[in-house]
Amino acid sequence: MISIKYNLQQIRKRILSAAEECGRSPEEITLLAVSKTKASSMILEAILSGQRIFGENYVQEGLKKISELALYSDVQWHFIGSVQSNKSRLVAENFSWCHAIDRLSVAQNLNNHRPDYIAPLNVLIQINISNEQSKSGINLSDLPILAKHISRMSRLQLRGLTAIPAPCKDYRYQLSMFQKVALAFYTLKQIYPNIDTLSLGMSNDLEPAIIAGSTLVRIGTAIFGKR
Ligand SMILES: *Cc1c(COP(=O)(O)O)cnc(C)c1O
Repeated sequence: MISIKYNLQQIRKRILSAAEECGRSPEEITLLAVSKTKASSMILEAILSGQRIFGENYVQEGLKKISELALYSDVQWHFIGSVQSNKSRLVAENFSWCHAIDRLSVAQNLNNHRPDYIAPLNVLIQINISNEQSKSGINLSDLPILAKHISRMSRLQLRGLTAIPAPCKDYRYQLSMFQKVALAFYTLKQIYPNIDTLSLGMSNDLEPAIIAGSTLVRIGTAIFGKR
């Protein structure tokens, strides 16, 4: 039997020691629990252990859990999958964050569908850092123009960047990939001082991500077990 409570404690310890290693305050680093494919009962166990921020990759699955757990109104739901255009209304209406913005049309659809009666949708631009054909995300050279467009959309709030480097066991390589995204983030922040979120790091690479400056780690397997 896996204990979600225990796993969360272990992850918080890893965040703490990585932060200590590089002299950062652990309060700067938010833990997002990635609950895709996992049942609402497991998410509830995490909620009861103090976790409040969850990430889902699939719209219908996410909506089901949001409604099943609606009682916990301080839980924050992030959509971290890629947004198909026919799903953008549902994402805009039901989530408070959307991570994987990699095209102007995606941003436009979300902006058009975000209802007026709720706060603007927080968004991250996804960078394709390893330049893999198969992975989504924009090249760094396209970042300034996409950021400019998004910054002018009234129903979106640009919060920062995210990236998923190609899986790799070499710590120094992972670190260098994360540092590239971090540099782009700090450069962008000079133009948009309000951006505050650099989402880097998953179960296997949260340490180099935090050393590079991550402010939001997305952890699935290490909390909920294998998918
Ligand atoms: C599934 C997923 C994660 C979690 O990955 P783990 O290796 O299970 O921690 C993080 N980010 C995104 C975008 C994901 O799709």
